[in-house]
Amino acid sequence: MKTYTKYLTFNTKNKIEFVRITNDVEKAVEESGVKEGIVLVNPMHITASVYINDAESGLIHDFEKWLEKLAPKDKNLYKHNLTGEDNAYAHLWRTIMGRECAVAITNGKLDLGPWEQVYYAEFDGQRKKRVLVKVLGE
Ligand code: ZN
Repeated sequence: MKTYTKYLTFNTKNKIEFVRITNDVEKAVEESGVKEGIVLVNPMHITASVYINDAESGLIHDFEKWLEKLAPKDKNLYKHNLTGEDNAYAHLWRTIMGRECAVAITNGKLDLGPWEQVYYAEFDGQRKKRVLVKVLGE
């Protein structure tokens, strides 16, 4: 079995940002030479998510609104922020949106549904962060 590891780096302009990374993941799969297998993608940080959904700007706006309703950014709401941090909401959003995704590789390509796109969701950005891409297969 072949394995291939790559780290994508991000330093988003905004504190909260949704970045489509389907092409970056596809590129890592190409570089790996794997034709049949799986690619795992996860941020190496506890205030960011990797998820799969539609690349539609209205929906991305809806995600942010929905997350804000579930766990508002107001820093006075959380015990975590008593440590001097202000990112409790970002930890909660990460948990809601998930840690990682795994995509099947068929014939050397990501085997995604017609509307599926891989996203990196940054909830506490404006600093350097990494995403692990691990390709496994033959
Ligand atoms: Zn924190």
